[in-house]
Amino acid sequence: MSGREWLRRIGNEMLDLVYPPGLYCICCGKIIDESRTYRLCNDCMRSMNWNTGRRCLRCGRPLAENDPGELCFGCAQREAAGHGQGFDRGHACTGYGACAQAVIFSLKYGGRADIGDTLGEILYDYMMSEYDEDELAAIYDIVIPVPIHSDKLKKRGFNHAELMGRGFAERAGLRFDPGALVRLRGTVPMKGLGPEARRANIRGAFGIRNSRLTQIQGSRILLIDDIFTTGSTVDEIASVLKSHGASRVDFLAFAAAGDMVI
Ligand SMILES: [Zn+2]
Ligand SMILES: [Zn+2]
Repeated sequence: MSGREWLRRIGNEMLDLVYPPGLYCICCGKIIDESRTYRLCNDCMRSMNWNTGRRCLRCGRPLAENDPGELCFGCAQREAAGHGQGFDRGHACTGYGACAQAVIFSLKYGGRADIGDTLGEILYDYMMSEYDEDELAAIYDIVIPVPIHSDKLKKRGFNHAELMGRGFAERAGLRFDPGALVRLRGTVPMKGLGPEARRANIRGAFGIRNSRLTQIQGSRILLIDDIFTTGSTVDEIASVLKSHGASRVDFLAFAAAGDMVI
């Protein structure tokens, strides 16, 4: 190693000491101090559309303050259609704005597996703002992440929903089973597809692992995913789980698109 290389190496090590990679805002990349909640800088903490206002009573997505209804457009339609096999209740921590999108993209496409646990912490705090730990344990038997196809798993090296789900379930002291569901086939990206096309795209894409069939019977399940949009994915999974005897299927997502967004 030349003297110059050595100096550069020491210089880099020193930089790592002063600015460890964990000390950047997970949304904008600005340097932050260690004590920041959820590793977000002040600006991103403020810009995140935390879901603290009016919410759809069914799926939990944020409702406009001037929206007179208690359900979002999609849930009102599902209700009118007598949708029985879908999910029961949903929860989402933020609206799907630029900040939530940046964080999700870094986790899924930027190789930032470390963000999974931070989102797990956010999921936990959100649920703790709705329930206490005893209530949560009394409502749910198993926490299950939405599985991704094996091709994606190979490419990314991890399932982001599994990392989020583990972070959540460990904090909440709930049973976590990342292997309960299997992704039977890939799907085309949902972006740009209407509700019908989304349902057709996802139909038959999920199954239950044979070894889990008995434990699903009578279970109350909380599904974990990154984003909730039209609900076609969670509805499809809920109908598979319910056809095998699950008694309740709710979901918990980090972000939910606003009303009438598909
Ligand atoms: Zn930031
Ligand atoms: Zn809704």
